[in-house]
Amino acid sequence: MAFVVVPTSAITCAYSISRSSSRQSSQGYDSKTMRKGLSNTRTEQFFTQSRRTIYNNKYNSKRSATNNNKNKSFYVNAAKASSGGKFVVGGNWKCNGSIESIEKLCATLNSGKITADVEIICAPPMVYIDRVQSKLKPPYQVAAQNCWVGKGGAFTGEVSAEMLKDANIPWVILGHSERRSLCGETNEFVGLKTKYALDTGVKVVACIGESLAQREAGNTLKVCFAQLQAIADCVSEKDWDNIIIAYEPVWAIGTGKVATPEQAQDVHAGVRKWMSENVSAAVASKVRIQYGGSVNAGNCDELAQKPDIDGFLVGGASLDGDAFVKICNSAAHSK
Ligand code: PEP
Repeated sequence: MAFVVVPTSAITCAYSISRSSSRQSSQGYDSKTMRKGLSNTRTEQFFTQSRRTIYNNKYNSKRSATNNNKNKSFYVNAAKASSGGKFVVGGNWKCNGSIESIEKLCATLNSGKITADVEIICAPPMVYIDRVQSKLKPPYQVAAQNCWVGKGGAFTGEVSAEMLKDANIPWVILGHSERRSLCGETNEFVGLKTKYALDTGVKVVACIGESLAQREAGNTLKVCFAQLQAIADCVSEKDWDNIIIAYEPVWAIGTGKVATPEQAQDVHAGVRKWMSENVSAAVASKVRIQYGGSVNAGNCDELAQKPDIDGFLVGGASLDGDAFVKICNSAAHSK
């Protein structure tokens, strides 16, 4: 089992920022200044501790992968038959809405007919979660869109996994590409956050996905596997019971450019194969892999038929109650 020491100081943030400096620079952040401002002896101590932890985890995970490979009898594309859980649809409301619009959305969702066997998770902005949770009726559950990497404390603007747990919020979305690219969250940071949330009792929707440049360079799977590896380095095999993987190609998010069902299926099958070879065949066969990126009421049925697509993470269309209900009911097309 992988073990990780989760640091509980702001130094973690310094770590995240400096490890992602090149990306931030390309996004116009003054990463050098940020790094300088945050750099101190404790940062160095953190780096040493963190690298050691990550090295140990990598070593352990490689060792367990070798063991798994010895008895590997995995079948890519036979996944849906064996993919354990229910089709699962998430609605990522991002930083949108007002009390008025959110109450309207809840009312539309509650009055829509969910006819398929589907798990549904709505992620409102943090300030509205409590209100949404009290308004939405089953089968709707709620999620936070982010949480802090460790125990709460002097981390202005953050929300801890303990708080989510305390407020009965069962899920958190972690590693969304907007947080990776706009807030400088590195693969390692997402791995640490995932582990901390799980250990606190909050289940995780873990997002992965490549940019357009990475896809065009032929690096789609390489990028997704590195993102997954950073999570696998931190979590135990058992932890995967409480993780949903959301494959969200960055070029398809909010652009109206949906991946073709074949493109999505190819990556999902690759991810499942990677899980089999690097975590375990058992986990690969039951982990749910959502597709996210411009899913809407018109394209959901076709995507849902692909054998390795176990659900959707929906941004824009989740703000339209009727469309979202239609997307949830596309679970009926799942094979
Ligand atoms: C998302 O942000 O998770 C997402 C998939 O957005 P959209 O559906 O708007 O592309």
